Amino acid sequence: MAVFNHPSYDAHEQVVFCRDEESGLKAIIAVHNTHLGPAFGGCRMWNYHSDDEALTDVLRLSKGMTYKNALAGLAMGGGKAVIIADPAHMPDRAALFRAFGRFVNKLGGSYYSAEDVGTSPADIKIASEETPFVAGLEGKSGDPSPFTALGTYLGIKAAVKHKLGRDSLQGLKVAVQGIGHVGYHLCRHLHEDGAELILTDIHPQSLAQVASEFNAITVAPQAIYSQDVDVYAPCALGATLNDTTLPLLKAAIVAGCANNQLAEARHGEQLKQMGVLYAPDYVINAGGIINVSFETDYDMAKATAKVEQIYQTLLTIFREADAQNRPTAEIADEMARKIINGQKR
Ligand code: NAD
Repeated sequence: MAVFNHPSYDAHEQVVFCRDEESGLKAIIAVHNTHLGPAFGGCRMWNYHSDDEALTDVLRLSKGMTYKNALAGLAMGGGKAVIIADPAHMPDRAALFRAFGRFVNKLGGSYYSAEDVGTSPADIKIASEETPFVAGLEGKSGDPSPFTALGTYLGIKAAVKHKLGRDSLQGLKVAVQGIGHVGYHLCRHLHEDGAELILTDIHPQSLAQVASEFNAITVAPQAIYSQDVDVYAPCALGATLNDTTLPLLKAAIVAGCANNQLAEARHGEQLKQMGVLYAPDYVINAGGIINVSFETDYDMAKATAKVEQIYQTLLTIFREADAQNRPTAEIADEMARKIINGQKR
């Protein structure tokens, strides 16, 4: 398994492989870039098929955090952690997260962890018994998901404004893939704004509950791409915009909270050629990390006001992409790199 020659390696400052025999912890922490400040990024727990799959994920996700934090205007770098484990089969979850906390602590504050897919604020609270370098704890900034949902909702509104010239979502059809922590709150915002929802999830029971709460239609997971909708909102896992799914899309807009939505950068170009407006994932889903950045002396009003800036940031990216006739993802990357390099210490 190559690291420095890995296709997703992007001058990451540190890649730390963590193993604790007693708890069974197997984790990788990637600190991508700390030019703007300590690296912030959640800890994902997933039943990866291979170590290489986990490495690819952590390298890509940590780079995304650097770009996300830069474009959100935060004095924070980018990092991420992945724990290689099956969340459903965990003999001693507390021991695992204490061991994880000890590894985070050894990094001495160059990386701050938080919850992500497969982990919860409760897990991070346990890690915090071993290290102060964690964020998003209950009683402080708390669960980031409602803020990620707010930012995603405002990002969808910015895309609708730019592409369809409308301020309201009334009567627009939105297909949401994944009604988990973020997807659920996003559905609430969309429903309150008058959107008609088409939902899918791999958990039929929660899907039925959410659909009934928001008067939504449900479809099978594979059917979500081909729905005749205005907006497709990927809110599950990454790489759902790929060679198989793009030909199926009928939506005019792709805007959702999932990380790493484009399987490859060229899919951003392909969306542009199809006339689909793509809201770059790490810009639209920055609401949670923006809220976390207010962890010390938490002030919800200030955090919310900063999350609301996502609307304007996306409009700027969309307009610049039109002006330069380039994919929105490329424009976002370029803007982020300018911020990161301009403030190099
Ligand atoms: P979550 O695990 O709570 O929700 C994900 C949902 O997607 C689950 O309900 C799951 O059953 C469903 N799902 C998984 N595979 C699916 C498939 N193939 N088809 C349909 N549904 C599927 O996670 P979350 O916290 O809501 O995060 C969702 C996405 O947003 C992730 O990509 C995450 O990295 C990203 N994100 C989350 C936050 C946050 O604040 N939680 C912040 C930024 C980005």
